[in-house]
Amino acid sequence: MVSMADNTHPLLHGLNDQQRAAVTTSVGPALVLAGPGSGKTRVLTHRIAWMLAEMHVSPWQILAVTFTNKAAREMNHRLGTMLGDASARAMMLGTFHAACARILRREAMRLGLSPDFLIFDTDDQLTVMKQVVADMGLDDKRYRPHALLNAISSAKNELILPADYPVRTYFDEIVARAYAQYQQTLRKNDGLDFDDLLMEAARMFQTDPEAVHQYRDRFQHILVDEFQDTNIAQYVILKQLAADHRSLYVVADEDQSIYSWRGADYRNILRLRQDFPELVEFLLEENYRSTQVILDGAQAIIAQNADRTPKHLFTEKKGGQPLTLHEAYDEQEEADFVAKETLRLLRSGHTHGDIAVMYRTNAQSRALEESFIRHNIPYRLIGATRFYSRKEIKDVLGFVRLAHNPDDDVSFMRVVNVPPRGIGSRTLTNVATEAQRLGSSLYRALLSLLECKSSAGRAERALSAFATMVAQWIALRQEVSVAGLIDRVLADTDYEMFIRDGSDQGESRWENVLALRAVVAEEPDVSLTDFLTDVALVADVDELSEEVDAVTLLTLHSAKGLEYPVVFLTGLEEGLLPHSRSMESPVEVAEERRLLYVGMTRAEQRLYLTYAFRRSWRGFRDSEPSLPSRFLEDLPDSVLKQPRNQRRQATKSSWATPSWRAPSRKTEAPTRPELQYRTGQRVMHAFYGEGMVLESELEGRQEMVTVLFGNGIGVKKLLSSMAPMELLPQH
Ligand code: ATP
Ligand code: MG
Repeated sequence: MVSMADNTHPLLHGLNDQQRAAVTTSVGPALVLAGPGSGKTRVLTHRIAWMLAEMHVSPWQILAVTFTNKAAREMNHRLGTMLGDASARAMMLGTFHAACARILRREAMRLGLSPDFLIFDTDDQLTVMKQVVADMGLDDKRYRPHALLNAISSAKNELILPADYPVRTYFDEIVARAYAQYQQTLRKNDGLDFDDLLMEAARMFQTDPEAVHQYRDRFQHILVDEFQDTNIAQYVILKQLAADHRSLYVVADEDQSIYSWRGADYRNILRLRQDFPELVEFLLEENYRSTQVILDGAQAIIAQNADRTPKHLFTEKKGGQPLTLHEAYDEQEEADFVAKETLRLLRSGHTHGDIAVMYRTNAQSRALEESFIRHNIPYRLIGATRFYSRKEIKDVLGFVRLAHNPDDDVSFMRVVNVPPRGIGSRTLTNVATEAQRLGSSLYRALLSLLECKSSAGRAERALSAFATMVAQWIALRQEVSVAGLIDRVLADTDYEMFIRDGSDQGESRWENVLALRAVVAEEPDVSLTDFLTDVALVADVDELSEEVDAVTLLTLHSAKGLEYPVVFLTGLEEGLLPHSRSMESPVEVAEERRLLYVGMTRAEQRLYLTYAFRRSWRGFRDSEPSLPSRFLEDLPDSVLKQPRNQRRQATKSSWATPSWRAPSRKTEAPTRPELQYRTGQRVMHAFYGEGMVLESELEGRQEMVTVLFGNGIGVKKLLSSMAPMELLPQH
């Protein structure tokens, strides 16, 4: 046994006493519970190295789990430099999903799968679920494939099988049946989805003694980073594997638990204490990442959350640059502020790579990207498809491009069956053959086919409707603005209905479409040709930016575990952070607060907090001003660069004559409208179905209706102008 006094050991260099104690502790269940930047990940890495070098553990016996593949690569690299490459290579080091996929490939026979089983990605899942919904004869408007998949995913994260799915409502019953059929289809296709990887591994370890013994033997030591964001299935895997040898070493910070929407449950920390009563706990208190003032700001924010272990964190980096709190007029001014500050920081010696810009939702990247392009600042976007290459944006632009030039075959192929209108590959082959015969574009071939065909089968009718729609857009494009054309395209194709399916992803996709709509509305005079050229250019600049040293743009969720000398946190407004979807529940608001805390604690030297007075992120510019995030109220003036009061007055006066244009939306009410809905009324919404009005109130000139919908949809806040609902007779 190595004694604590042995501080000269090379593997203990660069560690403080608390860290050393944690790294050199004897084998057994251990929990390092500590705040951000205190070296948890560093301790975990050194612990692995220590076990290999000093505890006669072979790399083969170690299972080390990180939250992302990137984190695994980094840890692997560090171990390589500490120990030499060979040791690290034999180790199983990766995410839970990656580790489970590897285990299940070896054990596929036990599950009745082939070792080459398919892993279904999100798109594949959707295809399967759509088929299931069709086979069950369900109305896919009422039972949205996405909503069903979400429910199934939650069940899998909690290891609930179809037969055990708790049925409390009619919707639950549909989920249970869809779940059973969905699983059957996956298995018939020799496939597992992402959640299955965890669930099947957990179940195998629970039910197959031979398998669990084999892997307990193999993985004598298990280590986990970011343990606060594990879900039930992951916890069961850990518990099963460590049940005999009990060498389970985890690091966690419950204040950084931000994935509960994906089933993460920080109560796993409590479960750990229960299931492993001999657990040894370690505390790390020195923060090595941030300056004192950044730390003070972050502590002031998180201190407001109830039910947390207060943690004392200190840093040797006394003082530091105070936090900059910047109130911008709108999202463009906010983005320009970020870009200009970035240029200033670059002049003062920072590199692009030093700087990260974070936000709550992907749609917020659009304004930032455009400003960075205008200011010629290279950037890279993490964890998301670039705005203009997102599916929904490409769809909408596909329609618009077709209206612009109907001979654009790429766009034709992209949108001819979007949303699905029954035009299959056989029909398209006919169109393509005709195009070849005529030497024309697909669109013209389609017109020619429709001219000579008198039969009106299902496919012909669909083709004819599509051709008519495109012809109308072509006629319209001369008369209306690009925004007008987009509105018409969205209406004609029922695109909102198609993309906004009640899932979070659907919501964010629709937000992106509205963000596009908002950009276009800003410049009512731009021609269709110029608009499409600009858009093409954005994509080109994007491609170049990958290769250079660049500023990082990322969501708060993907910022976990990372650190940057300079961090901008943008869009700190009510409705974005906390997000409007979370505002109803104190538990969710607490998670939004943790998200801000995670963002703030990524910063090493400089932290900027920005919000906009107006934001057109929902496609409006006529809405009421945004309110600054409630969390900002908890920042003491002592950490801010400029005391709040002075700053407010200074900025407000410059808004005396706002320069914003009046919106072009036709739905805008000219005077204060009367309320259309009253509490208790029954209503029918085109896609949420039947509901009851809980509350209706004017927000500015808009009527905001809060409705409780059935079918597991729950409470929605809707703008009456955007979502007209039919009043139903009272019961
Ligand atoms: P998070 O909660 O954000 O994941 P963490 O607790 O995992 O943070 P690390 O990322 O391991 O913290 O460490 C934060 C930074 O501090 C890293 O740059 C790390 O290299 C550095 N660091 C950690 N411990 C020490 C130390 N004893 N001496 C010097 N630097 C250290
Ligand atoms: Mg870490």
